Amino acid sequence: MSYTPPDRAPFAAHENKSLGRVHSEESPAYRGEFQRDRDRIVHSTGFRRLVYKTQVFVNHEGDLYRTRLTHSIEVAQIARTVAGALGLNESLVEAISLAHDLGHTPFGHAGQDSLNACMREYGGFEHNLQSLRVVDHLEAKYAEFPGLNLTYETREGILKHCSARNARELGEIGARFLQRQQPGLEAQVANIADAIAYNNHDVDDGIRAGLLTVESLREQTLFEMQFADVRQRYPDIEDRRLVYEIIRRMINRVVTDLIDNTRQKLDEVRPASIDEVRSHSSGIVAFSEQVHDEHVSLKGYLMKNLYKHEKVREMTDKAKIMVETLFQTYMNEPGQMPDEFSTSAGRVDETGQARVVADYVAGMPDRFAIAEFERLQ
Ligand code: MG
Repeated sequence: MSYTPPDRAPFAAHENKSLGRVHSEESPAYRGEFQRDRDRIVHSTGFRRLVYKTQVFVNHEGDLYRTRLTHSIEVAQIARTVAGALGLNESLVEAISLAHDLGHTPFGHAGQDSLNACMREYGGFEHNLQSLRVVDHLEAKYAEFPGLNLTYETREGILKHCSARNARELGEIGARFLQRQQPGLEAQVANIADAIAYNNHDVDDGIRAGLLTVESLREQTLFEMQFADVRQRYPDIEDRRLVYEIIRRMINRVVTDLIDNTRQKLDEVRPASIDEVRSHSSGIVAFSEQVHDEHVSLKGYLMKNLYKHEKVREMTDKAKIMVETLFQTYMNEPGQMPDEFSTSAGRVDETGQARVVADYVAGMPDRFAIAEFERLQ
């Protein structure tokens, strides 16, 4: 018996044409190669940590807000729908989506900015690159190789962006940033699904937290169009259902537009293989111009009114202090870290030690980071 992949479009990623794994392994009997990647990600320690990592709201502020884990699952759900409609590889988009935030620090973007500032003299810290580092090096589960030994295609999708300097150090997986090539369509889908997921769930979380109002959101075309539709159909609808009915319609509008517009572009470009997708002059998966503008406008609105809201900033200011304190303390006293990290830190120079500390701090779920901060005071 062996696994037979379903029929997919010629421009999709095909399991039997995968560029493979760094350490070669026998193919699984009943799963495709990308399914195996997805399964390894779900079983990883980094994936379980996502449940206690902040998306926008700190995990202990309320039980109903998105965490990195629920965000990643929403990304995967949207990405699978788009991939299915376009004849792409659903297992691959799912693997990329579930892994895309594995490198995120505790406390959301505040944690990442703060850790990046701490690492300025040591090569910097970037969560996207860290996600790749988690699956390539930091997961320690298998006897025969470090990391999860994922396929090239999954790793290509995880590494969304990368500086030229880092790209040179990464070798093969970084080459496309130097050659200005595109990633495969599954990677492009997962990337946009990420933005669709957060744009929409942050509206929901922002309203729930009382930081955004339906009235101010009505200035956004994407929101107002659906608001008018729901109000007309259900004039007496209660507030929570109103918001939910608007959000599901907003997701539907942008996802449908993404599929329709991308289909059209695929018809024009007609890539015969994933390699032709990679060497195309630009990305193929995209919204129509109008929906793109609506999407970007909502993103800008959230930046101004939610991510930079005074209440969110109070939390992010505290997060910065915690991350800086943890970093400095472990730099001065590596013995405060668990043995595996302090031993590694003892074997390398100062820059190497900083990277070990960054790996340790980045892996911390929010509440563990808070507990460590309090312990080290
Ligand atoms: Mg994300």
